[in-house]
Amino acid sequence: MAETELPTHQLVVAGVRRDAEEGDTFTISSPATGQVVGRVAQAGPKDLRDAVDAAAGAFAAGTWSSVSATDRGKVLLRVAGIIRDRLEDFAQAEVLNAGHTIEDARWEAGAMADVFEYYAGAANKHLGAVVPTQDAGLGVVMRVPVGVCGLIVPWNFPMLIATWKLAPALACGNPVVLKPASLTPLTALMLGDVLVEAGVPPACVNVVPGPGATVGDALVGDPLVNKISFTGDSVTGAGILRRVADNMTRVSLERGGKSAAIVFADADLETAVDAIPYSVFANAGQDCCARSRLLVERSVYDDVVARLVERTGKLSVGDPALESTEIGPMISEGQRATSLEYLDVARSEGAEVLCGGEQSGPGWYLTPAVVAGADNSMRVAREEIFGPVVTVIPFDDEAQAVQIANDSDYGLSGTLWTRDLGRAVRVASAVRTGVMSVNTNRSVRYELPFGGFKRSGIGRELGQSALDHYTEQKTVFYSAD
Ligand code: NDP
Repeated sequence: MAETELPTHQLVVAGVRRDAEEGDTFTISSPATGQVVGRVAQAGPKDLRDAVDAAAGAFAAGTWSSVSATDRGKVLLRVAGIIRDRLEDFAQAEVLNAGHTIEDARWEAGAMADVFEYYAGAANKHLGAVVPTQDAGLGVVMRVPVGVCGLIVPWNFPMLIATWKLAPALACGNPVVLKPASLTPLTALMLGDVLVEAGVPPACVNVVPGPGATVGDALVGDPLVNKISFTGDSVTGAGILRRVADNMTRVSLERGGKSAAIVFADADLETAVDAIPYSVFANAGQDCCARSRLLVERSVYDDVVARLVERTGKLSVGDPALESTEIGPMISEGQRATSLEYLDVARSEGAEVLCGGEQSGPGWYLTPAVVAGADNSMRVAREEIFGPVVTVIPFDDEAQAVQIANDSDYGLSGTLWTRDLGRAVRVASAVRTGVMSVNTNRSVRYELPFGGFKRSGIGRELGQSALDHYTEQKTVFYSAD
């Protein structure tokens, strides 16, 4: 189909699909082919104004916040049901627009439904407190909705990260304005339709694709927005933190990491090496939790590196629509170029690229790369690459493993491979990250808080913790005098 004939995916403003007021549009491409596959309405200032005003008006009127928490939960359950009915549509859209493998995309669509179900159940269980006080009376602490939530989402897990923000925000009774990444707005717009269909009041549902520098910035700076939840780049996140200062807008940030997987000699090496490639190369390495530093006890270093290179070479890289594919394309030519630059930097700093780094196309494919002969001072070990590159570093003992793991500006995720329970307890406690997994790859479980220490961010998503971020504490004292 010619570019001019592509249908336009419209904005969702006050729950209604519409063109941008100024008629602006932008195109989106398939990472698998590099071809333009869609046209999207681009929100301008008037569209954002309408979206925020609709949300703020609904909040002032109590349109959603006055619906009982139990009934809000029922609506979110319906959201989950509709997502399950359309699971394949969501999965196919994410394959097309984000280049996720079909297997991952189906899992992610199912996980969206899981998260909505979790917060459907949580809606009426976010408890306040009655606190004994010195004065005669009743000290009551309530949780009340924070207000209009501006949710800013990246391109690496578009529908999943949108859901991590939408579900708790709505469970707590807040209206939302969702700003998807410009590269990947499709599933966010689909989610907007589902929310309205399930019964969230239309004015509370707004999805406004458009450039971060204009639409995102205006959303962050809008005085009618009470809360910003952002996931993305470190520099962008820091800018948002500065930007919210004037309005004292509540903010939570998730800004990535440089996480370590630590392999001790006593680990089940077979299991560990089988799993480790997925902890860094899944989603072509474009994962804030990617364990992009692999710390290996020196006595098994050569063995682990040899097995890792062999295992990595067997990963099937290719068309994300095929069920046999394990690693799909990168999101863009630029993102792939960044990874290739880091491989050059690694070589120039004296490290060795043992495998990977081969490009193919059409589309933005890059084979996963293992970098060895590195130390933790090198740029490949310090900077978030956001591509399929792992840097392997040896260590001599437990203390050094912890020291290297903690020698990072970031502190998001981590994995520990050991059969020694005492060591697992000691090291998991000592590594300064928000999330640690012991003898398993998976970093994220929706029942548990997720977020980072240090420069990885502020606040926690998922679990009960997210509910705190989408509410304010309100204290009321009823005098008995
Ligand atoms: P960004 O942080 O720029 O984008 C994330 C989201 O923020 C997008 O929706 C973006 O909109 C929006 N945004 C951009 N600028 C602003 C702004 N000034 N105010 C408000 N919102 C804004 O990340 P990129 O997509 O540019 O990726 C760059 C790098 O960030 C990657 O190479 C990777 O290293 C890292 N990254 C980390 C992620 C993580 O999960 N920690 C996720 C994605 C990227 P728009 O898309 O329109 O620019």
